[in-house]
Amino acid sequence: MAQSLHDLFRVTLLGTGAPPPVLNRFGPSTLVEAGQQKFIFDAGRGAMQRLHQLGIPFADISGMFLTHHHSDHVVGFPDLWLTGWIGRPWGKRNVPLPVWGPEGTTQMMEHLTKAFAVDIRVRSHNYPLDGVKLLATEIAEGVLFDQDGIKVTTFKVDHFAERLPAYGYRIDYKGRSAVLSGDTTFNENLIQHARGADLLVHEVTAASGSAAENAEQLKRISANHTTPQQAGEVFTRVKPRLAVYNHLLLFGGAKPEDLIPATRKNYSGPLLVGEDLMRIEIGENVEARQFNQTI
Ligand SMILES: [Zn+2]
Repeated sequence: MAQSLHDLFRVTLLGTGAPPPVLNRFGPSTLVEAGQQKFIFDAGRGAMQRLHQLGIPFADISGMFLTHHHSDHVVGFPDLWLTGWIGRPWGKRNVPLPVWGPEGTTQMMEHLTKAFAVDIRVRSHNYPLDGVKLLATEIAEGVLFDQDGIKVTTFKVDHFAERLPAYGYRIDYKGRSAVLSGDTTFNENLIQHARGADLLVHEVTAASGSAAENAEQLKRISANHTTPQQAGEVFTRVKPRLAVYNHLLLFGGAKPEDLIPATRKNYSGPLLVGEDLMRIEIGENVEARQFNQTI
């Protein structure tokens, strides 16, 4: 059923990939639209291109949230930020950008501004300086944004334990909710915060190969990421109306089509493997469609 813009609650996967520099899965990045607001969670490689494919100028983005500082989640940020300041129809930002992220976010934003100081100085003759300003806020568990009926809550997850501050996000809007896992291994805190969510977008890792290789690889990666079997347990406990895999981290000969069968050992509910530009509307139903516009 068509919704008014005011009721719109939609999650678009801008990038569903991981570090491998492939064309079909760009780096992790997710757009969340709620009413008139648009937020981007993480900015992996290619986030700017995907946003442009959707026809959304960076000027329309209300804010950025970072889950953690692994480079595959942030290397697309300077592109979004700087390309989004200049030109049209993709940019023309003229107001400062709020950026929420873990410890180190303030330093990253300050250093990025220094790194691009020459470009900023030169272009600021043609574009408003406010449009390239970054307003960093370092996060702790709790509500970060609560405005126009949209609530963004962050919670800790477990990704390299204490060595790497890492967070997931929950977005609530008009009685509906979406949860983004960020990068994490199996995590009770995520299950706690994701309870009752309509949509759960969750990272996943899988390996295949010789038995020994497989066991060794799986042990290493499942300490920091979530296997389909573990994710199945998470989904069974959270009971989302739809679960979607993103940030596919596949080793050896593991393939995206292996993920759902492997999850079925522990979960029998609705589940999709995300693709770049998959759009999920959260309304009366939770429905995913592929956005196919090319530029
Ligand atoms: Zn990571």
